[in-house]
Formats: sequence, structure tokens, C-alpha cells
Amino acid sequence: MKIRVEELQNISGQEFDLCVIGGGATGSACALDAQLRGIRTVLLEAGDFAGATSSAATKIIHGGVRYLEEAIKGADLQEYHVLVRALHERVRMLENAPHLTRKMEFLVPSYHWIDVAYLDVGLKIYDWLAGPGRISPSKYLSQEETLKRMPDLNQKGLLGSVAYADGQFDDARYNITLVQTFTEAGGNTLNYARVTDFKREAGRKISGVVVKDQLTEETFTVSAKVVVNATGPVSDSIRQLATPTVHKRMRPSKGAHILLPLDVFRTEDALLIPKTEDGRVLFAVPWGGRLLVGTTDEEVTPETELVVAKGDVEYLLRHLNQYLARPVSPDDIVSGFAGARPLVGSEDGGDTKKLARDDVIEVDPASGLISIMGGKWTTHRAMAEDTIHRVQQALGFPHAVSQTRNYVLYGGKGFTDDYWNKLCRQHRLPEKTAHHLAAKFGTAAEKVLALASKNAALLDPILEARPAIKAEVVYAVGHEMATTIEDVLARRIGMQLYSWRDAIQAAPVVGSLMAEELSWTSSFTRTAIMHYVEKINHLLDSAGLSRERSPVSMSRESAAAQQ
Ligand SMILES: Cc1cc2nc3c(=O)[nH]c(=O)nc-3n(C[C@H](O)[C@H](O)[C@H](O)COP(=O)(O)OP(=O)(O)OC[C@H]3O[C@@H](n4cnc5c(N)ncnc54)[C@H](O)[C@@H]3O)c2cc1C
Repeated sequence: MKIRVEELQNISGQEFDLCVIGGGATGSACALDAQLRGIRTVLLEAGDFAGATSSAATKIIHGGVRYLEEAIKGADLQEYHVLVRALHERVRMLENAPHLTRKMEFLVPSYHWIDVAYLDVGLKIYDWLAGPGRISPSKYLSQEETLKRMPDLNQKGLLGSVAYADGQFDDARYNITLVQTFTEAGGNTLNYARVTDFKREAGRKISGVVVKDQLTEETFTVSAKVVVNATGPVSDSIRQLATPTVHKRMRPSKGAHILLPLDVFRTEDALLIPKTEDGRVLFAVPWGGRLLVGTTDEEVTPETELVVAKGDVEYLLRHLNQYLARPVSPDDIVSGFAGARPLVGSEDGGDTKKLARDDVIEVDPASGLISIMGGKWTTHRAMAEDTIHRVQQALGFPHAVSQTRNYVLYGGKGFTDDYWNKLCRQHRLPEKTAHHLAAKFGTAAEKVLALASKNAALLDPILEARPAIKAEVVYAVGHEMATTIEDVLARRIGMQLYSWRDAIQAAPVVGSLMAEELSWTSSFTRTAIMHYVEKINHLLDSAGLSRERSPVSMSRESAAAQQ
């Protein structure tokens, strides 16, 4: 990716074949698919790439066991279609970004024989539907085998478990990697660029967009023959901006997750809790050195603040603790996040947990706007492929086949599972740093480390005893368009997920490195750090946890004490 100011020049006032609004999973995948088919594309994102739903997923690459049950019980063809497509897309996601994904076994503990039989049959159907896309066959595990793999499971009445395979991924990094791959293919993109209006031809057809740069407040226009709306849960706002009379379609639903230290539930496998009190499933999954627990499902409006609330914490722990030998308490929580599912409403309304995770492509005849709504992360590539077919038709371009089915994403070429070992040897890195760089950047880790060859201090950790190094901050600014401290700590490096308190401690280090790269003044830097710390403290407050003191005010206090 180019530096933001440079890219702004390449986009402002320019003409493109296609403008994609929304730099989440769906929009980024659309932009990549289009650019690889030779369609000159610009991707505009109002906040940061992956700043909304696409970094708030449970991070599972799956067909969806719950949807299987609904497809069978309700004899629902639509659910069946979603499931089979997702099962096939799983494999593409795993193969196209091997550094950001991994296969994972999910154990469903059983305390009644009838559940064992039910699950065993259901998961055999799941395997069968996956066909050649099957990851590994599901199987029954005895009580002993189950406890060997999950020693902290509640043993009382445990009969055994049924194990099945799906995938796991790093959603924020996958999203940024899609954008990076798109720009490598010649596409143009800008974050913090909100579309506020449309340019129109003499009639009502759209011929481009009006954009407000969120950093400078300046407005500029971009011309485009076709515009795609990929704004996820807020798609209705763009649809109604194009044609105010269209009916709302989105039924956003909030899902919250918490992260716990992995030693509360030592395992390399994922736990699936098969039935919650509101008839859903819950996951507890090892992720990035933590146990990720989620999720909730609550219909919200676009105005709802998407933070983990005290009630979410109570709900998640109430269910999780039934499955643990030693219950955990809110004090164990290290971080959390929440997002809104972009569900598309059925005509008759109804409960959001019953809405299919299928996608809908809508071409507005009045304005020509193409909206891609709904879907899930696992199907982002297929959704983009279908959307760009419609774009090609609208452009009147000859049909070109999608290139993305087997297109290895940035950092994925040449990646092997022991790549970290090579980094360790060649750059004399601590093992945990090599693992971290390999998992976040794949073979592009070499580019991060190249920065340190000119300035060895960039090999230093951002926080003592943690794997992330300072070079990642410089790389994030120069090559991944990171603009705020949160862009770096939440989505580029992932430290905000590992620990809210670590993120607060790291903010001054990240802030001062960014200040050097972006020529921030000292007062701007101080404000940026305080603003970030306040934001994390607000997350702690919302979840009902105690606040962390700002490292900036702590260092001021200790300096005052020394005088
Ligand atoms: C709790 C939860 C758990 C989930 N777990 C999984 C899972 O494990 N596996 C899975 O496959 N799927 C999962 N999903 C679903 C998946 O995360 C979403 O389907 C996917 O991320 C949606 O991506 P999107 O690009 O459509 O939306 P978003 O990521 O929300 O992207 C839309 C973007 O549009 C931008 N935008 C909005 N308005 C404008 C504007 N005016 N101008 C410019 N840009 C604008 C926004 O800033 C945003 O970045 C989960 C979802 C949730 C909420």
C-alpha cells in the first residue's frame, strides 16, 4: 500500500471503472476480484480497513454447524445452500492465506447418550456435504480422550465428545492482506475516506461519489462508471443515499466476545457449547495465546454502541462456567470486542438468530447502485465473485473469469508452517517474535525486518517480554496505511486483543514511533495517546471492569514526585 497522502493524490478527482464503498471483508474482496479481472478499481473506507464487523468475528472458517441443524430441521433449502457454499469456501480461505489460517478441531462435549448419537450423525452429514472440501472426518472421543485434550472440562457426568474440523483465521490481518493484495495488483485505496453523497448524471444514475477525508475534513469527488455498496450492517444508509425511497433491508445483530488467559482452559482445540439458553451455540477457542469466548446475538440499530457490556460478560461466563472444572470470574477477562452481523431481513421480520447468513446482491434500477449485503467472512470471496459478475454486466465489459479462487494473498507465497524457524535463524529473533511475525505477515515479515536492518532499535519489543517489535509500527504506517494508535494496536499487531492493559501501556511507545513517521507535533501525539487510553478505559468501564491508569499521567506523576 502507498503512503496515505500520496494515495489521496492518485484518487481525488480521478476516474475509475469501479468504486467500492466499504473496506471490510466484502468490499476488499470485491475490489481485489475486480482489479484482477482488469477493472480499474478504487476502494474507499470511512474508518480503518477492518475497523467494523470484519475484525469482530469469532474468527472461525466454517460452514456453520448450527445452520446444518436449521437446514435439516426446517428442510430449508436456503440454509442448505449457505452451508454447502461455505464448506467449499473454507478450503479456499485456508489455501489462499496459509499464514493467516489454520485447521482446527472442535470438540462438542456430551453429557447424555442421545446427544452423542444426534451430534455424531449430524457431523457425519456435515462431512458428507463438504465432499472434497472435507478437512478431516468427525469422530467420537471417549471421556478419557476428551479430558486428555481438554483437562479443564467439567467432568461431572461427561460421557465423551464428538470432534469435527473447521478452520480458524486472523480476521483483521486477513482483511488488511486482501487490501494489500488489491493494491499490489494495481488498485487504489484510501481509509478514513467517507462517502457522503453521489455524483449523478443528468438523470438519476450515479457517476461517482463525493468523499469526505475524515482526517482533514476536506471534500473531494471520484468518478466511477459503477459503484458497489459493501458497507455491511450500515448498507441501508448508502442505499437510501442513492434512492431515498428504497425500503430498509438490514437487521444488524450485535455479537460480543471476551478473551481470557489460556490457562483457565488449557487446550489446543476449540470447545463448542451446543445449546445456550436462547437456543444458539457458543465457542471457546484458543486464539493468539488467549481463550476467545463468544458470542451473543442481540438485534440492534445502527446507532447502538458496539462494546462488550456487563450483561454480555454475565451471559458468556454463565454459559462457559457450566463447562469448566474451575469457574472463571469477570476479573479474569483480559479484553473483548463486539460487532454487528450484517443480516439481511426476511420479509416477515422474525428473530435475528433465525436469519440465514446468506448474501443478497441488489441492483437499484433507479440509480444503478449495486449493493452486496449479508453473508459471512467464510463466503467473502464467493460473494465478491458474484458481485463482480454483475459489475461486469453493468460496465458492458466482456466476461472475464474471477481469478481469486486460487489466488494466494500477500505474504502467503512461499509460506510453510516452519517459516518462523527460518526467521529465527536468519534474523536471530526470539522464538516468540518469529512466531508472531510469521503469523501476522507470512513471508512479508522480511519486509518488516528489512526496516530494522537500517535501524537495529526497531528490533526491540514494543513492550518488554511481548513478541511484537517496533519495526511493525513503522511498517504499519508506511505500508499498511495505519493512521491512529488503534489502527496499529487493534488491527495491525493485535495487542489490543491480547490485553487491554498491555495496549494502554504500549500506547506511548506506538504514539511516539508514529509521530516520527507522520511528523506529528508533540501536543498532537500526547492527545492521540490520551484519546486512545480513554477509549480503552471506556471499554473496561462498559464491561464492568476496573480502569487502568494512563502511562502518560503515571510518568508525569512520577516525574513530579522526583522534583
Ligand atoms: C459477532 C460476530 C461473529 C462473527 N463470526 C464469524 C465467524 O466466525 N466466521 C464467519 O465466517 N463470519 C463471522 N461473522 C460474520 C462476518 O464477520 C461478517 O459477515 C463480515 O465481516 C462482514 O463484512 P462486511 O465487509 O460486509 O462488513 P464490515 O466489516 O462492517 O465492513 C463495512 C465497511 O463499510 C464502511 N463504511 C460504512 N459506511 C461507509 C461510507 N459511507 N463510506 C465509506 N465506507 C463506509 C465501514 O466503515 C466498514 O468498514 C461474524 C460476525 C459477527 C458480528
